[in-house]
Amino acid sequence: MNNVVMKFGGSSVADAEKIKKVAKILVKKKNNLKNVVCVVSAMGDTTDELIEKAKTISENPSTRELDMILSTGELISSSLLAMAVQELGEKAIALTGEQAGFKTYGRHGFSKILDVDTTLIEEKLKHGYIVIVAGFQGRNESGDITTLGRGGSDTSAVALAAKLSCDAEIYTDVEGIYSVDPRFYKDAKKLDHISYEETMEMAHLGAKVIDPRAVELAQKYGVRMYIALNTADVLGTIIDKEDLVEQSIIRSVSAVDGILLVTKKLVDQSIADLFSELANEEINIDVINETLIDGEKYVSFTSLVEEKNKIENISEDFSFIENVSKVSLIGNAMRNESGVAARIFNVLNANNVKFYQVSTSEISVSIIVDTQDKNKVMELFIREFNL
Ligand code: ADP
Ligand code: ASP
Ligand code: MG
Repeated sequence: MNNVVMKFGGSSVADAEKIKKVAKILVKKKNNLKNVVCVVSAMGDTTDELIEKAKTISENPSTRELDMILSTGELISSSLLAMAVQELGEKAIALTGEQAGFKTYGRHGFSKILDVDTTLIEEKLKHGYIVIVAGFQGRNESGDITTLGRGGSDTSAVALAAKLSCDAEIYTDVEGIYSVDPRFYKDAKKLDHISYEETMEMAHLGAKVIDPRAVELAQKYGVRMYIALNTADVLGTIIDKEDLVEQSIIRSVSAVDGILLVTKKLVDQSIADLFSELANEEINIDVINETLIDGEKYVSFTSLVEEKNKIENISEDFSFIENVSKVSLIGNAMRNESGVAARIFNVLNANNVKFYQVSTSEISVSIIVDTQDKNKVMELFIREFNL
């Protein structure tokens, strides 16, 4: 029998009825002669609620204990799902991240997967069990529970698929990956195939349908991913190598809110020193520009609004622009096409849209605009590039 890893996100296991539906899907898959490993997220908004619970005790809880409380969300959903499968007369076992063999390293709350020892999972599969794994968690070298960062269950699923040499099927509350978030634009196009590279870029640039770390891991280990609706009866999106992907100029538009634009005049300080200071405070930094105006050197960069306090603590000389968003166009064929940038600037110009910054990668263009203009800009791009 072939292995398969199926992952169900929080909205797909949000209540007992949904958990029972997922259990039926797992049993059906098993009856189709598959060894089924299922990774689950915490039910609904449980993770947010657990964070709130921690905050009722401490505004700044220790990250070790925060990881411990957060890991319980996935323990509840995985045990309930195993019970639901057992109710259907099939053998099932729920495993914590540690029991499933997830060894992690790095900071609490943002830990990374070092390796997965799948001995126990494979033994249980051999004995006919459907194995349900608590996503988003593992155990570090000191024996502590760690979590992989928000949305991390996708990465748990791909890591297991890599180890078990099989596909990672990610089931969620939309039918697949679309050209635009279908909740934003109802006529968005569902994509049948998309490359790892484009998916990663979309995920980094705001398409929250998949965790970019999961796609990175999938590309590294050649794991084929499939994103589909949690009823498992509608065709979804395959994420695979580029050569399977039909080319088009621009495939997708996405957006990130809560961007902070930061500027500072460089006086008696090198740019290297400035960024060392920011790095020491672990401040999240994106696009950096250095400009010379009338012989004065200015440096500007983008960060996130939640980093503002930390940046202000470094020096009083920063100036900030808040309430800005990053709107990005992503497409594999962009690297071969000249003229895309011209079309973007023409559209923005013709519609009097003010923008602060433009950055590009080989397969994307990102524009920083006022958040109040974000929807308008997305709609203009959707129309211009027929998304
Ligand atoms: P899960 O709980 O299953 O992990 P998420 O909420 O993390 O689900 O991701 C699914 C959501 O991603 C969808 O509800 C959808 O609104 C959003 N999304 C954002 N961009 C896209 C896109 N380009 N294609 C599909 N879904 C998208
Ligand atoms: N439950 C975790 C979160 O909400 C992990 C996940 O859903 O993937 O971030
Ligand atoms: Mg998710």
